[in-house]
Parts: sequence; structure tokens; C-alpha cells
Amino acid sequence: MDQRPPRQPPTSGKASPESNAPLPGGEEHYRLLVEQQNDLVVKVDNEGRFLYVNPGYCSTFGKREEDLIGQRFMALVHPDDQAQTDAAIASLYHPPHRCYLEQRALTQEGWRWFGWSDVAVLDERGEVTAIIGVGRDIHDRKVAELQLLQTQRMLDLALEAGGIGTYTANFSTGQVCPDQRYLAQIGYQPGEIVITDEWWRANVHPEDLAAFAEQTGQVIHGGVDDFTAEYRFRHRDGRWIWLQDHARVYERSPDGIAVAVSGLRIDIHRRKEAELRLAYHADHDPLTGLLNRRGMWHVIRGIQAQGQRGHRPNAIAILDLDFFKRVNDTYGHLVGDQLLQEVAMVLRASTRESDWVARWGGEEFLILMPDTNVAQARNFIERLRQQIEAAPFLIREHSLRITVSAGLASSHLEEHDSHEAFVSRADMALYAAKKAGRNRVCTETEADQD
Ligand code: GH3
Ligand code: MG
Ligand code: MG
Repeated sequence: MDQRPPRQPPTSGKASPESNAPLPGGEEHYRLLVEQQNDLVVKVDNEGRFLYVNPGYCSTFGKREEDLIGQRFMALVHPDDQAQTDAAIASLYHPPHRCYLEQRALTQEGWRWFGWSDVAVLDERGEVTAIIGVGRDIHDRKVAELQLLQTQRMLDLALEAGGIGTYTANFSTGQVCPDQRYLAQIGYQPGEIVITDEWWRANVHPEDLAAFAEQTGQVIHGGVDDFTAEYRFRHRDGRWIWLQDHARVYERSPDGIAVAVSGLRIDIHRRKEAELRLAYHADHDPLTGLLNRRGMWHVIRGIQAQGQRGHRPNAIAILDLDFFKRVNDTYGHLVGDQLLQEVAMVLRASTRESDWVARWGGEEFLILMPDTNVAQARNFIERLRQQIEAAPFLIREHSLRITVSAGLASSHLEEHDSHEAFVSRADMALYAAKKAGRNRVCTETEADQD
């Protein structure tokens, strides 16, 4: 109560601006109304002492009227809410002489929240003579509100810490409503862009759009409620960033078409880049940048499955540099390394877009030629052999010549032809080429005749 102005001379409580007119029905009528209602009604003087308490107040606080009259109401207010209560009461001494305040008070059932509508009673000089308060138990609503606030805070923290943006999308209107974090992920401020379906599609990476469209199709028409996708999205500054999208359908039309979804977009750029880097290193040879053995096995499995489905043969050539050990022995390991890099460049430059090249071992390379028969493959590898034989490789101050032996195999189209058997036939053909004097190409049939 410290903030209120100095005490005004007490007058009768009826002197408020509203109470000057005669009471229709008489005071008894109003007394009855006040005493019958569930709300709490009190009147306190300028010191905050009870002048009047209604029966509802007495029963809520488990006290008798005579125990309360003359006592200060603040004694029942929760210590944490007293300063705020003081401030609200002080405000009653200024127009409009009304306030609303929420506070906890110690009832018979313990601390409960009340909402108080207070009004000052003024005398004819406009001085405050008393305060009338009407209170209502708002405990359940207030506790629910506080829990909601707590949940909201935790959610904000989680979204902030996780770099997560949220959105809602309405498929019938095409409207997407992003939150501030969603926009910040892609470099925009609130209000700067209107996200339409068209804009959205134009900004998803073209390579990720088809998979995304298929998935959204299943969500919209296929009755699938949950959606998770990873895709690249164009940042405002032009670069692609990786996002993970989790959405759920919350409304469907009577015929099952998804209408509204809510979703999260998580910035996974760093994780994805690291994953891709790891995957790259797991599948590639660091010296030449070609696929390594692991990466090539992966490709062989995929290409073979396609070939078998399309009843088209694939070809494999394994190439081994002849007498490579001598290069190392003569010029040193570093020169040997550079020669391997140079040969890798020739292989990469001379193969077709559809061919796959791997460093299969130390000085061995494997070329996978999809949709290619033995005759075509032989022609091609023979030309490659000649090219390598003809080219002096200039490494440091040395001009080096090297030859290559190659073994060729074609995939059998029967189901039972394993990838291992396919590669092993090429290996045997290579062995035959070495045995026949090196610097030549042998096919698997030539190896069989051996
Ligand atoms: P062949 O004609 O029978 O293939 O003879 P070769 O000397 O090429 O075959 P061999 O298998 O006897 O030796 C292969 C050599 O390749 C031995 C090894 O030192 C060398 N080599 C393997 N990996 C590397 C590498 O990464 N860098 C260098 N500089 N040499 C390597
Ligand atoms: Mg060799
Ligand atoms: Mg070898």
C-alpha cells in the first residue's frame, strides 16, 4: 500500500460517482444480490482494511466476518504478488479509478488464483474514500495458462537450440505460413516474401524436387499422414542449404485429400555436408580421386541390376600397369604416385560419360562399361591401351613411358551370374594378358582357351 497517496478523510462508502443516485429497489435488494453471488465482494478502506466482506469471501477463506472486518487484506495475499497488488491499488487513486489484477491468496484449500476487478469509491470532492473489489476464482484457468506458457517456453528453447523453423501449409489455398526461424534459415525477414507453392518449387534443388513431389503426392492423395524429407533449398544469397522437413497432416477433406499440414524445417546443412564428405571419402581414392574398390562394388551392383532388367550386357575391364615396380625402383615412389595420377586422368578423360572408373588396387584400374558388349569394349580398351603406350608422361624432369595389360569380361544375363564372378572373369583375362607378354587386351574367352 506504500505507493498510494496520503490518506484521504474517510466518508461514507456510498459517495462513489456511481452510487450518488438513489438505489432502485433499495439497499436490501443489492445486499441480497451481493450476498447470494459466488463472486467475492469486499470493501476496504484506504489502509487496506476490510470494511465489508460478503459470505462468499468468508467461506472461501474459511473465516468469519467479524474476524475479517478491520484486518488488512494484504495478509492473505501471496508474498510474490504483494508488490503488484500495491501497484494496482495505487493506480485506483487516479482516473479511471478502476483496475483488474490477478493474484494468489491463501484460501481454505491453500493458495489459489483470483482475478479482482477493483473500483475506487470517491466522495463529492473526488477523493478516494474506499475501494470495492469483486473477485473471482480463476485458479484452474490460470494454472492451465501458466502450464501453457511453460510449454511454450520449452518449445521456443527447443526450436531455437535445434535451429528449427515451423510452418503450416494449406493445400486448398496454397498458402504456406512460416515462422521467423523458418524465414531466417533461408535468409529472409518476416513479411519479405509470400510463400506460394510455385515459389517453393522454384527454390527446391532440381535434383531433389522429383522425390519431394512424389512424397508430397502420397501425403496429399495417398492417405500417408507423416512426411519426412531431406532436400536442398535455395538460400536468399543463392547457395543451396540442406534442410530436413517433418510434417504431419492435421486436416483432410471428406474424400481423404490432405488440406492442412503443420511442419518443422531443420537446418541440417553442416551434418549433411559432413555426411557427404564422409561418404565421398569412403567411396573414393585419395590419390587419384577415382572411385575406390568399395565405391565401385556399389556401382557394379546397381548397374548389374539395371542390365539384368533391361537384358543388356555390361562389360568390365581390369587394367594393370606393366612393370610398374620398376618406375618406383628407378624414379622413386613420388614419381610413381604422379604417374598413377596421370594414368587416372587419361582414363577419366577417355571414357564415356556413362562409364565408371575405379582405382581397383595399387596400379590396377577397373572400368565398368554399362550397356556394352565384348566387341565394343575390346575396341575401346584397345584404343586406350594404344593411347597409354604412345603417350610419354612428363613427370618432374622425366619423360616416362608405360604400358598396360587389360582383361575384359562381359556380364552374363542369367540371374545366377554374381558380381564377384563377373569381376573374377575380368581378372582371369588380365592374368592371361600378362602371361601372353603384357601390353595387350585379353577377353575372358581368350583366358578360357589358355
Ligand atoms: P606386372 O607387369 O606384373 O604388373 O608388374 P608390376 O611391377 O606392375 O607388378 P607388381 O605387382 O610386382 O608391383 C606393383 C607395384 O605397384 C608394387 C608397388 O610398389 C606399386 N604400387 C602399388 N601401389 C602404389 C602406390 O600407391 N604408389 C606407388 N608409387 N606405387 C604403388
Ligand atoms: Mg602391374
Ligand atoms: Mg598389379
